[in-house]
Amino acid sequence: MLSGAWRALAEEIARGRDAGLAAQFWWRDDDAARPDPALARLLALSAHAGVPLALAVVPLGADPGLLAGLGEPVSVLQHGTDHRNRAHRGEKKTEFPLSEPPQAAAARLATARRQLEAQAGDRFIAVLAPPWNRLPEPLVPRLAAAGFRGLSQYGARRSAEPSAGLRQVNTHVDIIGWRAGRGFAGEDASLAAATRHLAAKRAGSADRHEATGWLTHHALHDEAAWTFLERVFETTRKSPGVRWRGAQELFHIS
Ligand SMILES: [Zn+2]
Repeated sequence: MLSGAWRALAEEIARGRDAGLAAQFWWRDDDAARPDPALARLLALSAHAGVPLALAVVPLGADPGLLAGLGEPVSVLQHGTDHRNRAHRGEKKTEFPLSEPPQAAAARLATARRQLEAQAGDRFIAVLAPPWNRLPEPLVPRLAAAGFRGLSQYGARRSAEPSAGLRQVNTHVDIIGWRAGRGFAGEDASLAAATRHLAAKRAGSADRHEATGWLTHHALHDEAAWTFLERVFETTRKSPGVRWRGAQELFHIS
């Protein structure tokens, strides 16, 4: 028997399908740093479910063994440079504080991009997923020149191309409850976030062409979070009108 939140998601998917709006999902996982049992479980889940995984890796914190052990269909995105919180007093956590000149931040990003690209090879796609999903506006127009083709943050995007040559596809469903002990946010809250984004797209209050992104943090998953993800993949993969898309396709990078 499906709980209310599962039913609400299935109904919204069906309403979208009837309106000619197939649900498009994608999956981003943050903070990959080293090969460990949680990462192995993540990769096995992606392979078993047949759902493409976009792994956001911290370039200066990545163990070379991490990138050597990745199979298909995994894409590597860039998760900042070193994930260090540089926020000034009064600023929310960020690797890129407003006080840092944009050209300096862009230079750091470009250097880290070259390093990650050299390690990740073909799996690398030049998409920046900034730590804590935060990036100052003045830095956005500098990303293309720093070698980036895409940007991924959190929440419905305002623009598919926030700056020339830069494509944005965000995530919308964070399964971690950051303010509740950094554990699983729960089925109801996670499913409701997905349903909300799909409904907003159908209503026209969110960009109807933006895929709904599921955001995970494998190092923090408890058993309930893993079970939930398995169920999401199993349920949605069987659902007509749902497509799980790879990051390369979404960001138009081939
Ligand atoms: Zn992170």
